[in-house]
Amino acid sequence: MEKFFWADKLAKDIIKVNKDKKIYVVASGITPSGQIHIGNFREVITTDMVARALESKGKKVRFIYSWDDFDRFRKVPKGVPKEYEKYIGMPLSEIPSPSGKGSYAEYLEKEFEDSLKKIGISPEFIRQSVMYKKCAYAKLIKKAIDSRKDIIKILNKYRKEPLNKDWYPIEVYCEKCKKDSTKVKSVESYEVEYECKCGFKNKFDIRKKGIVKARWRVDWPMRWKYEEVDFEPGGIDHSVAGSSYFTGKEIVKKVYNHDAPMYQLYEWIGIKGGGAFSSSAGNVLTLNDVEEIYEPEVLRYLFVGTKPKSAFSISFDNDVIKIYEDFDALERKYYDGSANPREKRMYEMSKLDKSKKQPKRISFRHLITLVQVGKTKDLNGLGKKRAEKARNWLEKYAGKDMKFKVQDKVKIKLSGKDKDAMLELKKSLERQNYTEDELFNEFYNVCEKAGTKNTDFFRIAYLIIIGKGKGPRLASLILAIGKEKVIKLLKQIK
Ligand SMILES: [Zn+2]
Repeated sequence: MEKFFWADKLAKDIIKVNKDKKIYVVASGITPSGQIHIGNFREVITTDMVARALESKGKKVRFIYSWDDFDRFRKVPKGVPKEYEKYIGMPLSEIPSPSGKGSYAEYLEKEFEDSLKKIGISPEFIRQSVMYKKCAYAKLIKKAIDSRKDIIKILNKYRKEPLNKDWYPIEVYCEKCKKDSTKVKSVESYEVEYECKCGFKNKFDIRKKGIVKARWRVDWPMRWKYEEVDFEPGGIDHSVAGSSYFTGKEIVKKVYNHDAPMYQLYEWIGIKGGGAFSSSAGNVLTLNDVEEIYEPEVLRYLFVGTKPKSAFSISFDNDVIKIYEDFDALERKYYDGSANPREKRMYEMSKLDKSKKQPKRISFRHLITLVQVGKTKDLNGLGKKRAEKARNWLEKYAGKDMKFKVQDKVKIKLSGKDKDAMLELKKSLERQNYTEDELFNEFYNVCEKAGTKNTDFFRIAYLIIIGKGKGPRLASLILAIGKEKVIKLLKQIK
């Protein structure tokens, strides 16, 4: 299996490193400093697929997601009130939410957690503010402080300006002003003495007061040790020489005598046809935005098919239709048994659950027509849900060529063969009911009878029915609208 699918190969390598582990820990995480970009989702789904691959090898897996919400608030992001400047330097968990409910961090976390649930991802969320405030890492932090000379040595290898001798691997949030404008003056065993720019100073025991945080480059490896992480992916910014993964790997070995988890780099994601989300417009594309257009399984499928280290773009333009069609084709192959091993694995990774029944789908292309002719009321289940995605897509992203409106009045003057053809079409429709294929064949009979060219016939039919020269497959369009309504239109031809 491993040679067919990247996540299976990673799972195999993870087990090889640590053969008899009872529970394998896979991890990802982020600092909730602003709206969470779809690029960060790639990290989560990469981890999710490795978790699934480990499980399919019969292993127990713990998938942890770290909210690094004890990190400092660095800058006010777009869309957040300017007065938030006064919170810069405070932990993200201690700032009020712009919504008025809960903290700033919780506000961002909630949206992402809800979006993840919809696509079948429910990791164990760990709020670092909770962990730090209850002094969970006190022992490991002390170890880092005791080893600070080693840490300085490791970090200085990659720094232009070396760290000072009085550098400590921790930051202290001031008890008075709540900010990190502090300087550590001295450390003795577990006791830290600090001074803040606001004038406050104090001495405290890091086992008793949760106001200290390990600096990022130490924080990350410290938690690899604490949670015994076996696998964690990282974005390209974490992956170059001297970046936090590489220094973390050295630090975790030197300070904690522990091995770094297996690592997988993931590339960024681009956007195709996203309008307001193009990089020049500067809006953040969130998982929620993608979920508005893509069904959960199709969204997973987008990521499943590309190796994490390859970049790709999420389409919002007319390619959306093709992506749905590709997914439906894969699903059919899976259920009729014609999928090759790689396709089989891709489909399994795209699924939300383990159900064995083939889902009943309506093609996205057909739904685009149904939505526009107003025939979605009778849909239910998956059809109804997919129709919602088609509607959102039409409203927000679809090209003009995909949009149409069914006409009430014939607005063109017809004569000669063109007129004869439309009158023949009316007769055919009145005569009997058709399946889509039968109706399609009937068009050619009509053309023959009227002596008109096929291309002219289609163009004129579209002009009459939807007021433009092109549209969705004509037979399917007429049946979707209902032939009675089309007959009524054709009767207006004089
Ligand atoms: Zn202060």
